Amino acid sequence: MSSVTDEKTEVLFPTDGDYQSFDDIDLSPLMRRAVARAGFTKPSPIQGSLIPLALEGVDVIGQARTGTGKTAAFSIPILEQLDGLEDCRDPQAIIVVPTRELADQVGRELERLAFGVPTEIAVLAGGKNINRQLRQLQNGVQVVVGTPGRLHDHLQRKSLRTDKVWCVVLDEADRMLDIGFRPQIERILRRCPRQRQTLLLSATLPPAVQRLAKSYMIDPQIIDCCQKEVAVETIEQRYFTVAQDQKGELLRRLLKREDPKQAIIFCRTKRGTDRLYRQLSRDFDKCGSMHGDMQQRERDRVLQNLRDGNLRILVATDVVGRGIDISTISHIINYDLPQDSDDYVHRVGRTGRMGRDGIAFTFVVPGEGEMLTSIEQRINRELIRDQIEGYDASPQVETAKPVEQAPKKQTRLNPMFRRVKRRR
Ligand code: ADP
Ligand code: MG
Repeated sequence: MSSVTDEKTEVLFPTDGDYQSFDDIDLSPLMRRAVARAGFTKPSPIQGSLIPLALEGVDVIGQARTGTGKTAAFSIPILEQLDGLEDCRDPQAIIVVPTRELADQVGRELERLAFGVPTEIAVLAGGKNINRQLRQLQNGVQVVVGTPGRLHDHLQRKSLRTDKVWCVVLDEADRMLDIGFRPQIERILRRCPRQRQTLLLSATLPPAVQRLAKSYMIDPQIIDCCQKEVAVETIEQRYFTVAQDQKGELLRRLLKREDPKQAIIFCRTKRGTDRLYRQLSRDFDKCGSMHGDMQQRERDRVLQNLRDGNLRILVATDVVGRGIDISTISHIINYDLPQDSDDYVHRVGRTGRMGRDGIAFTFVVPGEGEMLTSIEQRINRELIRDQIEGYDASPQVETAKPVEQAPKKQTRLNPMFRRVKRRR
């Protein structure tokens, strides 16, 4: 993070326990009620530090571990400051997220926190009927949540107006850059007024994001809630060494041994996902699969079944690696190693949400020892070696030493005020 910062940049390192109650944050009575109704009692560290700063209009880069409530952290200040539809019919805030499913989920969290105040929220995701979205935009919208491709589409059609936007959120920014959405994101940012607030969030923030931040944010303040560890402590993390041609059998044995409540099994490719799903569904019931080539309707159905508990095993690509919040997921299995160590952090973060327990297993084939080492360095922790008799390829796997992290530097505020509209 230090390269985003200059000498004057200040980084906040919130600690757990700083905020005992939402009463410690200056929120409107309506928002307090919505938060209580959502069942939130104590703000998470990122919420405790991001909400007050965001309410001051400051640009913020927030890094906090998976499952620690980043969505509410950026949604609450936005909802608090929205003008009513009678005063403004054009979007005031745009939230950009990498996947369609995440867009839906963020939309629902916004609806929940908007309880008691009629709020027009539009989810503009790809794979969905555009005419419905066009009608919604025409009827007046206060907050937009969308994927970069579809948002860009609406910009080109001139159906998405941006001149009243005072806040842009980039959730999982690193992922969006990773999967080639940089041009669309830059276009969206360029089209929004310069005098706006930009919030950028993720559990992982590599240098490409810092460069984006530099060019599109004004004196961003950095909140780092994971300076010690990016991985969540309540997730037990293990690995197996296994020969490539024995992975399938090891997986079956592991699933029988663990008998997971709900598991996501990550594969590298769409075809590999299909193949493994077909194999598993012969032996296990309540299996499903999901990847980017499936019809959106089918993707929605699978995810809903997972949320409802009708699916127990989901075989998927990294399309569900980011942001998806399903508290009943107990097991993550990396059948194939992720592309990089940050993807590992996010995949594993689909379990162990908000302090719950979870367990993650990673299959490592001979020749992949280096990737395992880089994961261990990234999470600053060694994975525990696990074994099931008869399925051990014993490759040369070097385990990493814990890595010292560079000290962080310090920022100043970018004053841009907006009043809390709901304080009535
Ligand atoms: P992140 O984006 O950091 O991965 P999410 O925003 O998806 O995490 O939140 C994870 C879960 O925790 C969600 O189900 C959310 O509703 C819930 N949650 C958020 N804030 C709180 C809180 N203060 N107390 C309890 N639960 C919360
Ligand atoms: Mg999130």
